[in-house]
Amino acid sequence: MSPLPDFLRPLVLSGPSGAGKSTLLQRLFAEFPDKFAFSVSHTTRSPRPGETDGKQYHFVSRDSFLQLIDQGAFIEHAEFSGNFYGTSFQAVNSISDLGRRCILDIEVQGVRQIKNTSLNPVYLFVSPPSLATLRSRLVARGTESQAAVDKRMKTALNEISYAKEPGPHDVVIVNDDLDRAYALFKKVALGEKPAGDVLPPLDD
Ligand code: ADP
Ligand code: 5GP
Repeated sequence: MSPLPDFLRPLVLSGPSGAGKSTLLQRLFAEFPDKFAFSVSHTTRSPRPGETDGKQYHFVSRDSFLQLIDQGAFIEHAEFSGNFYGTSFQAVNSISDLGRRCILDIEVQGVRQIKNTSLNPVYLFVSPPSLATLRSRLVARGTESQAAVDKRMKTALNEISYAKEPGPHDVVIVNDDLDRAYALFKKVALGEKPAGDVLPPLDD
């Protein structure tokens, strides 16, 4: 079988919580309602205001999640900041028939697991311009308690140290100015191969 053209290879988006993954995705889906499909993960976290079951996530109990693990339902799954998250085979397979590009938004343990599958996606890392900006965006989003922000900032360091290893991602996008970052993101999503950004030091 010949390899998929880059446009149809799944796109795996990762990057610290608060880096701007959902913001970039929302813009993309609004501009191209028929070209892409989001891989809807399962999670045990509670929905945020404005989130709908089946759209951003399938919101499930811890027991249901553990049962799904036992049933082998997940391509990958991980515990992040006290909750489980996982990509089901169903979430990805239901997209492959649609002729749309499948986009996953997952954290680093999931990225590592996907690397051991036959999915063969394009890996895109969304980076904040600095740690201070990341924290202020997480706080400004207003979805997390102070303790949860602290926890996510700690976890961000794992995402960043993985991104600093040689070659884990095909492209890096620094989400400084949103319009600039989105223009680059759009190119990658549409299957072009732009040079991408250089990962900032992220040691502030
Ligand atoms: P993620 O999905 O990676 O956790 P979000 O997309 O929720 O991150 O973005 C975190 C917060 O930062 C949101 O409140 C969002 O509106 C804001 N944000 C995203 N990109 C930018 C940007 N380029 N400049 C300023 N604020 C941004
Ligand atoms: P949030 O709670 O902010 O929606 O997501 C927290 C983190 O979980 C983000 O880094 C997001 O990319 C990641 N995530 C969302 N769905 C999945 C998934 O199915 N698997 C993994 N491994 N991570 C996920």
